[in-house]
Amino acid sequence: MSTLLEELQRVKTFEYTEEDVVQFEALHEEIRSLKKERNAVIVAHNYYRPEILKVADFVGDSLELALMASNVRDADVIEFCGVHFMAETAKIVNPSRTVLLPNLLAGCQLAGSAPAEDLRARRDELKKQYPDLAVVSYVNTTAAVKALSDVICTSANAPKVVRSLPNKNILFVPDRNLANFVAKQVPEKNIIPWDGFCYVHQQITPQEIERIRQADPELEILVHPECRPDVAKLANAVLSTSGMVKYAKEKSAKRFLVVTECGLSDRLAMEVPDKQFLKGCKLCTFMKVTTLDDVRDSLKYMRYEIEVPEEIRVPAERALRRMFDVAG
Ligand code: SF4
Repeated sequence: MSTLLEELQRVKTFEYTEEDVVQFEALHEEIRSLKKERNAVIVAHNYYRPEILKVADFVGDSLELALMASNVRDADVIEFCGVHFMAETAKIVNPSRTVLLPNLLAGCQLAGSAPAEDLRARRDELKKQYPDLAVVSYVNTTAAVKALSDVICTSANAPKVVRSLPNKNILFVPDRNLANFVAKQVPEKNIIPWDGFCYVHQQITPQEIERIRQADPELEILVHPECRPDVAKLANAVLSTSGMVKYAKEKSAKRFLVVTECGLSDRLAMEVPDKQFLKGCKLCTFMKVTTLDDVRDSLKYMRYEIEVPEEIRVPAERALRRMFDVAG
């Protein structure tokens, strides 16, 4: 079995020294004992720092974390190592648990691009033209936006969710690239995209991908649907992060270019040591702002607690549960 030092040395985003690893191990021990004291469960998003993923009970993408949070029964506290909207989602689906976000700076630029009041106005205006309009919101939205939505989706299930609706006209919020991907997969619907994008995925250009492919034509290129359409066009497969993990583990190919936030190739490098994961990725500052010290302090001082008012939580939960029903 690999040691923590060996695993972290396969990570390319950060360079870890032996001293760092000794420090991490001490913090891991402290966190595990606080976790027991608080009767907490730690969940972490794929894009988080590797030293945090190593102490988490569960690592996954937005959908996996939302499902995991909704099924927490034995723990009193959910320590949510993700960004703000994800911790809100955990609170929406499991309101009787205490949900903690270790660092309040962990927001999301994409979620911030769709304020609830703007969505309400746009929806009301479009409804005059399309009376059957349904609002489908990506999980990367605030609780208030979820409350205004008919159903939620993730990048793993967006086409399936849209296909399941009886409505022809769909306002798809907030990611225009994902909306474009869905429009191609479900041509029978009229997809009206919100004009938002994730700055991390938007920075990746086709020129960069072409350059890497030319240097290594055997590479399997996996692209996240939040990337631009001209980047998605170059992919062997367009997949959500959970889809990429499955694909990379199951395929016989040995070398992959993982085109999404850097954290995923780091996770894969730790978990699948016999394959190579090249970087076509960019760093999300929101996902990397939280440190292991923040996780320790969050459990120590029970901060920062996430609350969602009932008048928002109840309709938001309805939209989320509709997705769970469709996604199985
Ligand atoms: S990667 Fe993009 S969508 Fe994900 S948290 Fe960062 S800004 Fe938001």
